[in-house]
Amino acid sequence: MATKIPATHARLYKNIFVCKNCKSKIRSDPRKVLEGKVRCRKCQKKVFRPIRKK
Ligand SMILES: [Zn+2]
Repeated sequence: MATKIPATHARLYKNIFVCKNCKSKIRSDPRKVLEGKVRCRKCQKKVFRPIRKK
C-alpha cells in the first residue's frame, strides 16, 4: 500500500498495536503498552506488537 502523505500514514499507524494472541488491533499510547497497562479487549492479554512490523 503506497502512502504519499507521511502525516496521514503516521496518523493511521502511530499508536496502533496488534495483539499477539488474537491479532486484534488496539489504539493506545505506546508508553502505556510498554508499561503493560494496556490489555486486549478480546482476550485480556497484554502482549502487543506495533502494527507496522510484519
Ligand atoms: Zn487479544
